Amino acid sequence: MDSTTVQHVRHPEILALGDAGSTPNSKTGAAVRNQAPVLVKSLLVAINGAVPAARYSGYSSCPLTTARAKMLLAEFDYPLRPAPSHPFIDSTKERGDMWLLKR
Ligand SMILES: Cc1cc2nc3c(=O)[nH]c(=O)nc-3n(C[C@H](O)[C@H](O)[C@H](O)COP(=O)(O)OP(=O)(O)OC[C@H]3O[C@@H](n4cnc5c(N)ncnc54)[C@H](O)[C@@H]3O)c2cc1C
Repeated sequence: MDSTTVQHVRHPEILALGDAGSTPNSKTGAAVRNQAPVLVKSLLVAINGAVPAARYSGYSSCPLTTARAKMLLAEFDYPLRPAPSHPFIDSTKERGDMWLLKR
């Protein structure tokens, strides 16, 4: 699979996402959430015969429980750069509201 368009490299009409896809991202539901819109756009482009425009960054996230009611969210992309997705919340610091997200 192309790691950014989630298309098969020789058969662009074949697309895959999630744990059974062969892109080299960390396999999480968070990754599926980010792959899904790219897959839909790549599929529409494959049907219409154009070049894919949407790109999946490799985004994935892992909830890390740090205490009984605290958690932080490690969010990262393919090169393992931080990839925060919550504009008003610093999810890299342990927080009670992040714990509620996990619950
Ligand atoms: C313990 C645990 C904790 C996790 N915690 C997190 C988390 O906190 N955050 C996060 O983002 N991700 C988490 N993940 C990862 C996340 O659950 C997976 O990455 C995500 O569910 C993958 O989605 P999927 O749709 O690709 O596959 P799945 O969710 O595995 O769905 C595949 C489906 O296909 C069905 N199936 C299999 N074979 C067949 C068949 N032959 N015919 C028909 N149906 C079939 C299965 O029954 C299943 O329902 C966790 C995973 C585990 C195991």
